[in-house]
Amino acid sequence: MSKPPPIYLDHHATTPLDPRVLDAMLPYFREDFGNASSASHVYGWRAEAAVEAAREQLASAIGAADPREIVFTSGTTESDNLALIGVARANRGHRDHLVTTRIEHPAVIDAARSLERDGFRVTYLPVDSDGLVDPADVAAAIEERTALVSVMAANSEIGSLQPLEEIGRVCREREVPLHTDAAQAVGKIPLDVERLGIDLLSMCAHKLYGPKGIGALYLRSRRPRLRIEPLLHGGGHERGLRSGTLPVPLVVGFARAVSLCLEERDQEAARLTALRQRLWDGLCAELDGVVQNGHSELRLPGNLNVSFEGVDADHLLLALPGVALSTGSACTSASAEPSHVLTALGLPGARIRAALRFGLGRSTSAGEIDSVVGQVVAAVRETREKRALGQLRRSGDR
Ligand SMILES: *Cc1c(COP(=O)(O)O)cnc(C)c1O
Repeated sequence: MSKPPPIYLDHHATTPLDPRVLDAMLPYFREDFGNASSASHVYGWRAEAAVEAAREQLASAIGAADPREIVFTSGTTESDNLALIGVARANRGHRDHLVTTRIEHPAVIDAARSLERDGFRVTYLPVDSDGLVDPADVAAAIEERTALVSVMAANSEIGSLQPLEEIGRVCREREVPLHTDAAQAVGKIPLDVERLGIDLLSMCAHKLYGPKGIGALYLRSRRPRLRIEPLLHGGGHERGLRSGTLPVPLVVGFARAVSLCLEERDQEAARLTALRQRLWDGLCAELDGVVQNGHSELRLPGNLNVSFEGVDADHLLLALPGVALSTGSACTSASAEPSHVLTALGLPGARIRAALRFGLGRSTSAGEIDSVVGQVVAAVRETREKRALGQLRRSGDR
């Protein structure tokens, strides 16, 4: 008999495709294969109609006034790059400064770094020990020459939710556009670009049970008038902002996935919050020296980030073959650097190295949580014992 697959608790890295989303996509892989830009026959018309319906659904999901404010991209990485680099380049000469934070996803931080190499200046705002940005810091960082402020909606490691409404108000007052990376937030928490004063918003489908390889950038069309340059040049698709033939099946799946998330959002948030509490209570009941990282309430419902005193998270993962988990920075896990997010919280190195990120999602059940508690407790005890033995042996050698 083969072993059952590990329990999936890495929903911040990606989510499984919802079967209802796959069903919505399949006709567009088969008979409705047209190019949405083909204006001379029914194949093109059908593809275009599907894309425009999807655009409307996505716009309404984030409270956008006009579907034309949605530009399809390949994912959040591309949306973030288009937002930062596109706005910076369009303002070159008169506005050469950007404001962002130390806990952004690498898609924002590395785009900002590339702009610094091109002569732009960037302020990377600190966060408090819970991972929250202070709107007063945003106000203080904005200059005459600031072209864009970029603050993520929800962090992918510690789940912290930023005070976007206050930050939006600051940006409005100073007439600087506000971008937010909302990859982890859309479909999970209420998000409305009008109410929050967001001018650009990045999102993607694969974090919300949709397909990989499709995302969108919301771009406010009026007040303030945004200046932005495309990164890709070609056929002038997406009103000139993102050339390239649209992947119609992915676009359709994206919209279906967002709609399902919205329908189920509040119940699902309550369910995940309860499961997260069950996980935390279970760990605390059995183990000493466990501590949560991030804000206790202002966080994504499915996120729990925990440091286990006296263990190295990489060793812990090796002792946990039955659970698919990560230490948090899946996106930078190719490098062995400590998490830049936990570092920005000002945590000591040992606590950062001891951190595991639990990402609960739609498939997570109470039974799975109970099994995970048992496995993690055993793995932590085993790892701590090995370490104590190793220390004993080393002191015996002396
Ligand atoms: C996953 C993620 C990204 C990258 O999204 P892709 O669609 O995989 O390019 C960017 N920002 C955040 C906050 C994310 O969680």
